[in-house]
Amino acid sequence: MITRRVPFTLALLALLGFWAAVWVAPSEAATATYSGQPAKYVFFFIGDGMGMPQRSAAEFYAAAKAGKISDITLAIDKLPVQGMTTTYSSESPITDSAAAGTAMACGVKTYNAALGMDANKNPYTSIAEMARDKGMLVGIVSSVSIDHATPASFYAHQPSRNTMYEIGLDLVASKFDYFGGGGFVDPSGKKSKLPEPRENVLDAAKKAGYTVAADKASFEKLAKGVKAIAYNAWLQDAEALPYDIDTRKEDISLAEFTAKGIELLDNPKGFFMMVEGGKIDWACHANDALTSIKDTQAFDESMKVALAFMAKHPKETVIVVTGDHECGGLTIGFAGTKYENFFTVLDGQKVSFQKFSAEILKEYKEKNAGKYNFDDMKPIITANFGLKFEGDAKADRAVLKDFEIAQLKEAFERSMAGDTEKSKDEQTYLLYGGYSPLTVTITHILNQKAGLAWTSYSHTGVPVATSADGVGAEIFGGLYDNTDLALKFMSVMGLPAKAVPLTKSVAQN
Ligand SMILES: [Zn+2]
Repeated sequence: MITRRVPFTLALLALLGFWAAVWVAPSEAATATYSGQPAKYVFFFIGDGMGMPQRSAAEFYAAAKAGKISDITLAIDKLPVQGMTTTYSSESPITDSAAAGTAMACGVKTYNAALGMDANKNPYTSIAEMARDKGMLVGIVSSVSIDHATPASFYAHQPSRNTMYEIGLDLVASKFDYFGGGGFVDPSGKKSKLPEPRENVLDAAKKAGYTVAADKASFEKLAKGVKAIAYNAWLQDAEALPYDIDTRKEDISLAEFTAKGIELLDNPKGFFMMVEGGKIDWACHANDALTSIKDTQAFDESMKVALAFMAKHPKETVIVVTGDHECGGLTIGFAGTKYENFFTVLDGQKVSFQKFSAEILKEYKEKNAGKYNFDDMKPIITANFGLKFEGDAKADRAVLKDFEIAQLKEAFERSMAGDTEKSKDEQTYLLYGGYSPLTVTITHILNQKAGLAWTSYSHTGVPVATSADGVGAEIFGGLYDNTDLALKFMSVMGLPAKAVPLTKSVAQN
């Protein structure tokens, strides 16, 4: 017998090379998978724009209110398995929600704006479609419009997230069992390039057997056995649910939409449900910390509904919570507050940036057409954000300093001059990001007084935290890529952990 000895140095180099390959390209390494009894009830919670800073801000704010420095108050942060997930897209360290949604739903990297297809525009099957094809019922819930990028990643296959009408048609064709939360941005296809006549998406849905519930009473009446599309009567902006901070008693919360999903979908073959807290992101784009914190808390409440369900089905349920990317470059700390923080100063805020701009400022403008006076605006700012124009700034953090008042006055004048459109001028953009100059200046000052700061009006490239509990939860620990999330879900559902091109038979299902 001839034995050939591999020189030691060569073997060492080979070994080093192997580890280097594993280390350099973690997304190409086999991801941890699960091989036990498949989960029957699968929950996937996605906080849009919810990176670690958003979770931390919510924790520190709640702790400060309770007179503590730090406390774990969010149920999502108490889940037993915690991991970290990279979010880059195929073309940028900074992903958009479509590329991130596609990565998590289909397991493929793609360019920003693509839905349910890879970077070469080849469509891939989503884990929601795989669940449907296995005979499970499927629900998609979102606080933003149901045709928005994150929910659409689970049922649509479109080269652009902006083709809202086509996405609506994909929703109907998916035959999923429950859609809840926001409405449709372009149900009649006004912006579509498809040939006429274009059937209204809601008419197509009704024809396909969906019950459409557009108010709370009909939402509450929805019962097992129906396929349903449900949305809130008041859609605040871009067909989305109101921000939690603006929500009224008669509105349907994200937690209620989640509970209704469980009620409708619970069946012997199990279900897959994706729930998105979509406006955490929108508040962060606008650099409005408290609005984002309250939406993070509302998202956490919706996860608790799944936790209560899991308590009844502990051996058959899995819950995974992640963010699709960070947004706003939020951080805990600000140059002006150094090592201190005053999170409770945020308590003075009573409305979202959206409500302030679209309702309160608008009303002021209409009432005082042409005769704007900053002194008249001062009590309105104090009533809605708690910032004070008189007093001792050292004794009371809510008292504005002279330079802050000057910033507000300039922003007020710009807002009154109609300077709210997306700014073409770079310096103006850096100051206001295309939002109402007054509103964004108010939230910047308020957030900085609390000890929170922003670096962008867009997403950022930092990894996000992923949390899990239940069947196969252990494989969601560690550091891995967002495409791995889809593969992990596949294995938890008893399917091969492999991205699957969308075949005609599936597409025509
Ligand atoms: Zn966003």
